[in-house]
Amino acid sequence: MNDSPADTDSNAYRGRFAPSPTGPLHAGSLVAALASFLDARHHHGQWHLRIDDIDPPRAVAGSIDAITEALVAHGLVWDGPILYQSHSSSNYDHALDRLISSGWLFRCLCTRATLDANGCCGQHCQNQDISLATPHSLRVKVAPERLAGFNDRFFGGQAAPAETALKDFIVKRRDGLYAYQLAAAIDDAKPHFTHIVRGADLLESTHRQRWLQQLLGLEQPAYAHVAVLLDPAGKKLSKQNGAPPLDKHQPEQNLRQCLQHLAQPAPPSSARRVPEMLDHATEHWSMRR
Ligand code: GLU
Repeated sequence: MNDSPADTDSNAYRGRFAPSPTGPLHAGSLVAALASFLDARHHHGQWHLRIDDIDPPRAVAGSIDAITEALVAHGLVWDGPILYQSHSSSNYDHALDRLISSGWLFRCLCTRATLDANGCCGQHCQNQDISLATPHSLRVKVAPERLAGFNDRFFGGQAAPAETALKDFIVKRRDGLYAYQLAAAIDDAKPHFTHIVRGADLLESTHRQRWLQQLLGLEQPAYAHVAVLLDPAGKKLSKQNGAPPLDKHQPEQNLRQCLQHLAQPAPPSSARRVPEMLDHATEHWSMRR
């Protein structure tokens, strides 16, 4: 594993799994949950559950119960109370105020039709005088020369995106909701969490979140991204593209499949039940590609 000693100070390790309440857990989300759990437990660290409930229009009733029941059925029991991003609005507002007063935010009128090919503002909104009364999103500017790459504990060195690819991004949406990038940047920073382990589909987001952490003077956690599960067509398994919910009645089989996907040793025949499987996997956890 690419851990520096500072990365794995077991007393300091605080990890998390952070699902959005948009449906039940599927095999892809179990991979992220299991990887973050095993990494935390392997380092004798804490593992928390945070519900990323900042997008009410996408929330699906009953999903928090479905997620927690599925985690428990798979032996993935979190430390402390469940954390909810919806309780952190004042932190997000405070961060937005700081970014506004330091000149990093601008109002943007762009719709899908006017964004550039990278999803950045495509019509120079930052040079326009856009009134508060006009529906707009808030975007943060990116200074490419100050955007640093980072060392992913699993994937290794990650260069900063090209200047044209990340000129700006949304931190508050036109509908008034906080953007995922803002909420995650703040809630994932130290001392909330020291180690973030999640799917590689979020590698791009990590650059954005680290940029916000840098602007806000937040201490950055260590990041590790794990390969995501793909459907037969090669697309990421997700609730949006219809991944079936996990069958809670066959947790051993589900865990076995996830461990195989994560390139972990198969549990021996003496570890047939969930607790023994997790004990074995925790002891032998190592990040490999
Ligand atoms: N809640 C988001 C998701 O479910 C973010 C996950 C993360 O940052 O780990 O995709």
